[in-house]
Amino acid sequence: MPRRRKKRDPFVCPRCGTRVSEPVKTWTIVSPIPDKYGRITVTIMASFVCPNCGYKWRDAIKKFKTGGEEPGERREEEKEEGTIIEIDLSDLDEIE
Ligand SMILES: [Zn+2]
Repeated sequence: MPRRRKKRDPFVCPRCGTRVSEPVKTWTIVSPIPDKYGRITVTIMASFVCPNCGYKWRDAIKKFKTGGEEPGERREEEKEEGTIIEIDLSDLDEIE
């Protein structure tokens, strides 16, 4: 899926470019607003301290959706929207 936003490695120090092997701390952020399929976005955040220059930063290391049928299987849910309701016009004539 082409995305314009340049993907930056969250483990790399934005100041000096040193790659950090382990985050100092990780935590999760759960979006309070579900998307139109009723799924909730969960973001795993991490804080880092660069061993080279001492710079501290935090970044999202993982994002996923939860609460839906199967994450990423959007086609399954689209089918449900296409329910066809058939109306037999001859039935209406009989009422009159
Ligand atoms: Zn650094």
